Amino acid sequence: MVKKSIANLKPYIPEETMADIKKEQGLTHLVRLSANENEWGTSPKVTQAILNWGVKDANRYPDSEVTGLRQAIATGLKVAPNKLVFGGGLDEIIQLLSRTLISTGDEVVLTQPTFSEYALHAKIEGAKLVNVPVDSSGVTDLAGMLGSITPATTMIWLCNPNNPTGTYVTHQAIADFMTKVPRSVTVVVDEAYIDFVTSEKPASVVDLLSEFDNLVVLRTFSKAYGLANFRVGYAVVAPQLAKILQTVRLPYNLSTFAEIAASAAYSDQEFVQGVVTAVAKERQKWQTFLTGLKLVSYPSQANFVFFKVKRAAELSTELLRHGYLVRTGLGPDWLRVTIGKPEDNQRVQNLIQQFV
Ligand code: PMP
Repeated sequence: MVKKSIANLKPYIPEETMADIKKEQGLTHLVRLSANENEWGTSPKVTQAILNWGVKDANRYPDSEVTGLRQAIATGLKVAPNKLVFGGGLDEIIQLLSRTLISTGDEVVLTQPTFSEYALHAKIEGAKLVNVPVDSSGVTDLAGMLGSITPATTMIWLCNPNNPTGTYVTHQAIADFMTKVPRSVTVVVDEAYIDFVTSEKPASVVDLLSEFDNLVVLRTFSKAYGLANFRVGYAVVAPQLAKILQTVRLPYNLSTFAEIAASAAYSDQEFVQGVVTAVAKERQKWQTFLTGLKLVSYPSQANFVFFKVKRAAELSTELLRHGYLVRTGLGPDWLRVTIGKPEDNQRVQNLIQQFV
């Protein structure tokens, strides 16, 4: 018998492959601006590291502890190595945290809208979802979230910057929030897009871990590091929780291939900084464009913009006809567009201008 909490879930429908879309649309060129990937690619150091590796020991299981990458990140973040838990992308970490920390009937507090995987895994574990809408500026409503906590609450998801709104809540705001959340409630701050924040530095709340052992911080190599295909993400948590997560996770969830790629990407901070600077510059141009057209949009600190436009579905079809795939279905008449290379942003903006 399928678990009751799973029986009525809709099956996951993956995005069509780029090759299929091109074929269907008769396109020779397609730019995917629908998944918040890194349009600047991947550090050349990754290619070199993979070539140097040369598929050594493919017949051997990988290092379950991911020792090399663990050490590099622990040094980079100035945290103890035993505070890190790795997974096949944050998708796996979100599943792992939900599986470990949520019991049937628990309440899980989420921003509305936010990344869909939090709700999916909370539902699988039989939790009740408590959705707290963003405020009128599209910003996560921390006071509303505090007000939604009940004795049944076990987990709060904070995506910062938030996907899909792109909005950011400050370090100070999260620090204040943490002082008010009961210690029995785990607060997960998903920092998938934190590298793109320019409004304050440092933006991450990793430093708050020493004060709050109910805090979990998530990071991924899929965005600023340009490694979405390699599936590497990690949680920074209190050592007691890390030990439990290490017990629940699958033993060989990261291949050597993925570890080598992530280590090389992590060593090339210059590449990451180049991407972040280019995205911030393009983001500013996007924001000026959207304001100029008087379209409702939120201030983004991520590598995407989110805006409201009449006949959004029709516009997305028009963009696709010209070789640009954008994200629909995140709210009536809202589109989310990954910030691309300057020439692509210019083209997409011209097409939007002609459409509205
Ligand atoms: N968190 C957020 C907020 C995301 O937008 C995404 C992917 N789009 C993920 C986590 C998952 O990232 P990955 O599994 O590639 O690390």
